[in-house]
Amino acid sequence: MEDCLFCKIIAGDIPSTKVYEDEYVYAFLDIAPQAPFHAVVVPKTHITSAAEIDQGNSVYVSKIYEAIAKIAKAENLEKGFRVVTNCGEDGGQTVGHLHFHLLARRYLQWPPG
Ligand code: AMP
Ligand code: ZN
Repeated sequence: MEDCLFCKIIAGDIPSTKVYEDEYVYAFLDIAPQAPFHAVVVPKTHITSAAEIDQGNSVYVSKIYEAIAKIAKAENLEKGFRVVTNCGEDGGQTVGHLHFHLLARRYLQWPPG
């Protein structure tokens, strides 16, 4: 995907602060953090949003959640964390590459605003 910001980050064409990487998953610090720890966890293939997950690509979602558990251990997030996926216009999605926000190190109000 030539014009995709997160594909460019995965390719290393746009710099990022990496927190985790494996064959399926890349994770990096959010440029505008909404919590003291805020990583963006993305599949290493272009999936536009959560609305495009299907049988052919859902392995990336399980790999992402495996990665999140590893990141939580490595970053000592034993007090907890929140995972958020914004989808589409009403969901507030601004980057059209499926991603999971991993938020931690403060109490996260529920329900969110
Ligand atoms: P969303 O609004 O759910 O689509 O999330 C997109 C996220 O990407 C936002 O939290 C942005 O702050 C973040 N973001 C945008 N550009 C960059 C970048 N170059 N490096 C890291 N995070 C970014
Ligand atoms: Zn992409």
